[in-house]
Amino acid sequence: MKVNPQYNTKEALLDLYNKPLLELVFEAATIHRQYHNPREVQMSSLLSIKTGGCPEDCGYCPQAARYHTDVDAHKLMTVESVLEQARNAKKNGSSRLCMGAAWREVRDNKDFDNVIEMVQGVNALDMEVCCTLGMMSEDQAKRLKDAGLFAYNHNLDTSADYYDDVISTREYEDRLNTIDNARKAGISVCSGGIIGMGEAVEDRIGLLMSYMQMENPPESIPINALVAVEGTPMAEQKPIEQWEMIRMVATTRIAFPESVVRLSAGRTKMNMEGQALCFMAGASSIFAGDKLLTTPNPEYNEDQEMFKILGLIPKEAFADGEKPVTKEDPIIVARKEKERQRAEELAEARKKAKPEGFQPRKVTTVE
Ligand code: SF4
Repeated sequence: MKVNPQYNTKEALLDLYNKPLLELVFEAATIHRQYHNPREVQMSSLLSIKTGGCPEDCGYCPQAARYHTDVDAHKLMTVESVLEQARNAKKNGSSRLCMGAAWREVRDNKDFDNVIEMVQGVNALDMEVCCTLGMMSEDQAKRLKDAGLFAYNHNLDTSADYYDDVISTREYEDRLNTIDNARKAGISVCSGGIIGMGEAVEDRIGLLMSYMQMENPPESIPINALVAVEGTPMAEQKPIEQWEMIRMVATTRIAFPESVVRLSAGRTKMNMEGQALCFMAGASSIFAGDKLLTTPNPEYNEDQEMFKILGLIPKEAFADGEKPVTKEDPIIVARKEKERQRAEELAEARKKAKPEGFQPRKVTTVE
């Protein structure tokens, strides 16, 4: 059951969200146990492979170039340094790596070729690879899929009604198109939202309704609490209560029984008891590591301690879908062949300029 037919209207979902909290958690926990192993929680790592300098104006985001925040812009990481981070993340227990680039959209250039190589490399480490790179076309999605991409993240963030209060540089429809392109390429979809941006409860329900109306709802739904960052338009937003996170997680779990609900940004503001209720209510993934792109996140060992206390076990990679097969990328193959030929030509030219046995003339200088 991808979508719960009992709650496929706005009214029914809103009533569900407003249920007495413990009843809501109990209902969510019951559904969760039917579709998932309640002890399993996936540890995922989120790596910012290209940071800051983004031309978009998402009101919550410290990486937007137009806001004056503490984020230092960095160009795309090298393939080798990403793979090193991936190996570390795996060593620390992560079975999924999400790579985020602060781009408006994917462009067909050398940077994208490098991302393709990153995807190939991380897939070869037997980790689920997820990317969040902004808008993308169907062809670009296909290239990522062939590289071994497991999931593509593209959040709707909030309801269609509240969306314009948050972002003006791209339409809700653009986001739906990108999600559609990932789907058409056969990539698993990760898409969710942020609560605590000044939206009404109806907007949280509106976000879930957008997923309800899809032919195939996302396999993965991250629920974030706003991390208000100085310099962004949302810097002054009051932090939400953790009870609201628990309600949102539980409502999402009940509405989309098969999807993985991810407890994402904002975990540092929750205590262990609050997080425990989220796991009880159906969250089965957290992001591990001390940074979530650019905002703080609990440290690995704090999470390991929490897992021990709550009796949670880390979920293995590809428990929810087969490992994608990496295929050769014709663009990269052609580029490498060109580079090889160029190197050969250069070596040949050097040889001609300096034939074998050539001894430079000795020059004696007189002091
Ligand atoms: S959320 Fe993404 S698209 Fe929006 S400003 Fe930040 S980096 Fe850019």
